[in-house]
Amino acid sequence: MPKLLLATTNRGKAAEYRSLLKNLNFELVTLDQLDIHQEAEENYPAFEENARSKATFYAALSGLLTLADDSGLEVDVLGGEPGVRSSRYAGENANDSDRVNFLLNKLKDVPGEKRQARFRCVIAIAEPDGNIHIVEGECSGFIALAPRGENGFGYDPVFYLPEYNKTIAEISPDLKNEISHRARAAKKARILLEKISSKIQ
Ligand code: IMP
Repeated sequence: MPKLLLATTNRGKAAEYRSLLKNLNFELVTLDQLDIHQEAEENYPAFEENARSKATFYAALSGLLTLADDSGLEVDVLGGEPGVRSSRYAGENANDSDRVNFLLNKLKDVPGEKRQARFRCVIAIAEPDGNIHIVEGECSGFIALAPRGENGFGYDPVFYLPEYNKTIAEISPDLKNEISHRARAAKKARILLEKISSKIQ
């Protein structure tokens, strides 16, 4: 079976992709499994550039079909922050709970209805011949007043979905994998991967 390199070191993301991309004609391998520890440039101002940069870099290093994503949270009242800086929002050594608290503090004077936000995910798939495909997905909601729930990762405990009256950390992983920004992008990626798979079989 041909290999597909899942170019992420984020465990939460990797677990989601394993589920979202299951039953394709590819063996999913990770950077760790290939002993690749170099870091791609991902300081561009847009999700798409970062996803492209990562996919191209790791496809060239590994010689494999490579999927990389860049994702993050955009809060309207913060002018789209933290955006591409989502993982570094509270400093380089901060953890998920530091980032959540930093965000809640920034929004402490903002009432519920003005806390609109969206998660965005851009996936880049790089073929070893240099061909590159881009797809994306979004999930809209509001930033909650306080964290709730234990599931997921990152900002999930403060991302409130009005249609479920729950944060993403309170819904099941299966439901997150139907409605999230990453799930929506991955559905489009599956279609591309099926086409690529039939081309190389
Ligand atoms: P990157 O795509 O690895 O640069 O990091 C994206 C960052 O955005 C993560 O570290 C999280 O803080 C946040 N993020 C992306 N996707 C999710 C998600 O599904 N749930 C919660 N936070 C997320």
